[in-house]
Amino acid sequence: MAEKKHRINAPTLLVIIAVIALTAAVAFDAMKPRYSLREKSTVAMGTVVTQKLYSKGDCNDTVKIIEDIIRDTEDSISRRISSSDIAALNEKGEISADEKLRDIFDKCNKVYADSDGAFDITVGALSALWNIGEEGAAVPPDGELKTALSLVDGGKVSVTDDRIQIGEGQLVDLGAVGKGLVCDYIKEELEGSDVYGAVILVGGSVLLYGQNPDADSWRVAVRNPRGESNETLGSFTLKEGFVSTSGDYERILEENGRTYHHILDSKTGYPAESGLMSVTVVCDNGLLSDALSTAAFVLGREKGSELLAEYGAEGIFVDKDKSVYVTEGLGDSFTLTDSSYTLRGKS
Ligand code: ADP
Ligand code: MG
Repeated sequence: MAEKKHRINAPTLLVIIAVIALTAAVAFDAMKPRYSLREKSTVAMGTVVTQKLYSKGDCNDTVKIIEDIIRDTEDSISRRISSSDIAALNEKGEISADEKLRDIFDKCNKVYADSDGAFDITVGALSALWNIGEEGAAVPPDGELKTALSLVDGGKVSVTDDRIQIGEGQLVDLGAVGKGLVCDYIKEELEGSDVYGAVILVGGSVLLYGQNPDADSWRVAVRNPRGESNETLGSFTLKEGFVSTSGDYERILEENGRTYHHILDSKTGYPAESGLMSVTVVCDNGLLSDALSTAAFVLGREKGSELLAEYGAEGIFVDKDKSVYVTEGLGDSFTLTDSSYTLRGKS
């Protein structure tokens, strides 16, 4: 018996190829993450705030709530807003405070103690005197600096039951923690929303939340402290968390050929000179990432990295000689991209 041959003719082959192609396309499409990216930038807290929200639906409500959180937080903690809680504390020396406010002060008191006073929210008298970054700022006369310096003492800030008290004449300035704190509040909000991944930038503080739809972690760029604001010296990857950077380039005053920056040494009254241009801190809490970056900037690399270790935080220290030191937990994920800097290894 003649063998029956199964021949596929050309039109059938075309149909088969078309079906395969279609199936592959459908399968590929199913693999692609279904999300929409909502991106918005605004100016708040004296800086640029950018929200990037990934969600399956539209997240207009969340965008709006985040804007409200930022505004409400600024309205409560800015020393420059006369109706704020901090302005009231500075005026009266004492205020009644809810749990949220007490928690901020408890955390700040702890970092004050752990940093041997390098981080001190009672620098208010000094920062108001320097006013760096504001119009009309000038190097203060020595006498005025001495008077302001005598008011700086974080040990006088007390939190009791429902009250916060400061010493006579003291001024509190939460500028070193406000942006990180806002990132904490935003994270709480995102947890109850249908946003499954987000990057929130509040000036030098960043929240990396949930799942990046395009990769298994987020890539965080570290700014080149001597470059334009969009120039970076390297980057690292992080699954989730908070990142804050303190740098000597953020707010400056130039006078008589000298440059003064806004992170003050509460021991001298002058901008901190610890050999660093910037320090970036990664931490599981936003307020702490911000407080620790300011503290580590004042302390310098050695003491700064010891402080970070106490909090289980990681960091990238950039020295004035353009050496970059990365703490152990970040070491493998960090890539240096600007060859004018040298990666010296682990801090
Ligand atoms: P940025 O506000 O640019 O993100 P930081 O988080 O380092 O930078 O905070 C700097 C701000 O913190 C200053 O503008 C000032 O309001 C306040 N500040 C300055 N020096 C200190 C200090 N030693 N301890 C606590 N707060 C400080
Ligand atoms: Mg800070």
